Amino acid sequence: MTANETLTVVNPATGEPIITLPAASADDVTKAAEQAQLTYDTGTWSRLPVRERAAVLLRLADLMQRDAEILARLDSEDAGKPITECRTGDVPGAIESIRWFAEAADKVFGRIAPAGPDGLGLVTREPVGVGAAILPWNYPLAMASWKIGPALAAGNCLLVKPAEATPRSTLHLSALATEAGLPDGVLTVLPGYGEEAGAALARDPLVRALSFTGSTATGRRILKAAADSNFKRVSLEMGGKSPQILMPDALSYGDELIGDMIEAAFLTMGQNCTAGSRVLVHRDIAEEVVERFTAAARDLVIGDPADPRTQQGPLIDRAAFDRVANAVDAARAAGAQIHTAGLPHGLPPRGAYYPPTVITRAPAESAVLTRELFGPVVTVETFGSEDEAVRMANATEYGLAASVWTHDLDTALRLARGIEAGVVSVNSYSEGDITTPFGGWKQSGFGGAERSTNAFDQWTREKTVWIRTR
Ligand code: NAD
Repeated sequence: MTANETLTVVNPATGEPIITLPAASADDVTKAAEQAQLTYDTGTWSRLPVRERAAVLLRLADLMQRDAEILARLDSEDAGKPITECRTGDVPGAIESIRWFAEAADKVFGRIAPAGPDGLGLVTREPVGVGAAILPWNYPLAMASWKIGPALAAGNCLLVKPAEATPRSTLHLSALATEAGLPDGVLTVLPGYGEEAGAALARDPLVRALSFTGSTATGRRILKAAADSNFKRVSLEMGGKSPQILMPDALSYGDELIGDMIEAAFLTMGQNCTAGSRVLVHRDIAEEVVERFTAAARDLVIGDPADPRTQQGPLIDRAAFDRVANAVDAARAAGAQIHTAGLPHGLPPRGAYYPPTVITRAPAESAVLTRELFGPVVTVETFGSEDEAVRMANATEYGLAASVWTHDLDTALRLARGIEAGVVSVNSYSEGDITTPFGGWKQSGFGGAERSTNAFDQWTREKTVWIRTR
């Protein structure tokens, strides 16, 4: 096999290969889509009574619970994520997602239109048929579950392409789905390269809906491929440069504020689409915030992701390390102040570790302020008024998330209304939960939210059945 025909998963903590798998080719994708269409047409899943579909998915959730530790280890090893984060966040969240969509499956109703006396307008929801999901590497199992849950609950067949770096938890999930009784051909996982298998999914004529989570650059390519092929509907969840806004009374939240700021900035080493990578703090409290925040960042435990005490593992690979290091070096050279404790001794030399870093006084327009760095780097800027805070928060083409900290409800609501983002959390760092829609504004997202019953919009299409009444 040539290099393009295989995919090697590398442990980012050590640089050592974990496994080499066959990589799905464009031809494999075409065949899988044809098989999925056949399966869909037979109705073994799409026309199964919805409560029976739900039962299979609930069994899948139970099996994920049984294998929770295996799933946590797979994501931790492949992505370098601290095992505690996988055990307490990613895996329980993924199980909850599959269970929630299974339970919601028979609660999505159609509508009857308010027609006149000579007609009855039934508006029904039907599956799209064959769907596709393209996943990122930062939350492999969680993102798989956000897409698999509603797509399968709605009766579709789904092709899933995990990210090159992190295919194993999705493959394990697919084996569990088979064990749960999902018919063959309903869920097909295609580990492969973006330019080959991902691009083939984006232009496949049988795929009717594609849900993507990843970078803005790839999202743009997928949208073009959809337009150039069959106008499949596309839903894009992309990057962010999310602000954390601290009003003058924010410090009264004390350690809770600092703890949430740390989580916002450094969860998954900052490789998080909703990372609060821009702290915007009122100048009256800036000095104390910087002091406490940088002290807490220095205290983070950096080490082996498999160690439950570890809070910061490596970045996904050396290329990510170089990108982050170059941006920070450029900011330093331009006069910014860099606050970091550096790395502890004894880390594996080929691991892609970068220390948690806080940057103050970064010159306007520097890359650390404007670009999504996708690493453990956060900038701090100051403002003097609420209007200025909103202007700074919105001075980006991204619009995924934001958090605001203040005791004053009116201020919080004015800020929440003024901020251009899909999720604004007040006095916490949060993306909401499974019951609330998640999706970006501006160049962070497009085409429909994930989570909540809104997610069914991505995976169903409405049909009007007009009955003439006499
Ligand atoms: P990426 O865009 O490089 O890759 C994402 C997926 O797209 C991978 O599976 C990749 O193989 C595939 N891909 C690459 N080129 C493709 C092509 N030409 N056609 C089709 N598919 C292709 O992103 P990444 O580096 O894996 O993830 C990081 C990005 O994801 C960040 O920008 C982050 O903000 C974003 N992200 C967003 C969310 C969200 O919900 N908004 C969640 C997690 C990550």
